[in-house]
Amino acid sequence: SSKIRIGIAGYGNLGRGVQAAIAKNSDMELVGVYSRRDPSGLQLATDAPRFHVDELAAHTNDIDVLILCGGSRSDLPEQGPKYAALFNTVDSFDTHARIPEYFETVDAPAKAAGKTALISAGWDPGMFSINRVYGEALLPDGETYTFWGRGLSQGHSDAIRRVPGVAAGVQYTIPSTEAIEKVRAGLRPTLSTREKHQRECYVVLEEGADAEAVREAIVTMEHYFDQYDTTVNFIDAQTLAAEHSDMPHGGFVIRSGNTSDEQKQVIEYSLALGSNPEFTSSVLVAYARAVHRMNQAGVTGAQTVFDVAPGLLSQKSAAQLRAEML
Ligand code: NDP
Repeated sequence: SSKIRIGIAGYGNLGRGVQAAIAKNSDMELVGVYSRRDPSGLQLATDAPRFHVDELAAHTNDIDVLILCGGSRSDLPEQGPKYAALFNTVDSFDTHARIPEYFETVDAPAKAAGKTALISAGWDPGMFSINRVYGEALLPDGETYTFWGRGLSQGHSDAIRRVPGVAAGVQYTIPSTEAIEKVRAGLRPTLSTREKHQRECYVVLEEGADAEAVREAIVTMEHYFDQYDTTVNFIDAQTLAAEHSDMPHGGFVIRSGNTSDEQKQVIEYSLALGSNPEFTSSVLVAYARAVHRMNQAGVTGAQTVFDVAPGLLSQKSAAQLRAEML
């Protein structure tokens, strides 16, 4: 067939999301799910073949783009360079401070192998990054603001679960309505960390734990909570399971600028995501299409979302886009 053949490396939240997203893109097919675990134990939502990652090297002719669904902390730093030497790849590497060095480690093997490796796609980094660049380019005299939430923060949820006396818990990041309104009004405010976001925690205590001590340990935690207004709500395990199992997220990128002394301009991009991983995966799949086309056009090495023309993401041809979307 002439469909783009996609492989999934790593079957967690993103791996499941990519599987769901491929089903919504008729020009693609899922040819394999690859895991470091015993593949026969994976519960797939489709009848796609399952393999151990050790088999990837033997499957280089079967996959057009391998979507890397590993974690940014320890999986991708190893898997990114390794698989860019064998396949065209897309990943969601989101450790912002490390992106420049990660780019270099992926670029060399990809170039040497004639492969195209798109790093750090998703929504932040990803769609938010593109909108920060558009804003700054179109309104050079201005300020860029990024607000996150309301959304579940994996890192902060992990941090509260490490507090002694906490059995389980989640953390939501909430953008300040007041701060957003100032930005939307074109006031170009200087906002402190505390003024931009609040943090809301839902905690299940261990048997006999001291609620006040747990609350104090959370709100004073350095870097994670001490610079924010944080509320801690104590709930039972049933409520946590019933009301806090989804992974919603989203936020806003707003550029506020002046084109003359008299005229203010405001650009806003917003996301309201029912599922952070499912949306991120949808972005990865669209970028897989672009990567396939770029590789066929002879573009190799590491790429970021800034290097991909928007039309390459679309299932439609350039002629169709000119006729329908301009
Ligand atoms: P998961 O923890 O769900 O999965 C990461 C890896 O862990 C999988 O690839 C899988 O590898 C392994 N794994 C998954 N489930 C299990 C399990 N039950 N037991 C043992 N191993 C397991 O992470 P996510 O998919 O939620 O996120 C991956 C990364 O995506 C995050 O680290 C984050 O950095 C990034 N991200 C980026 C975003 C962006 O906007 N750019 C937005 C959201 C996330 P294997 O199958 O090989 O064992």
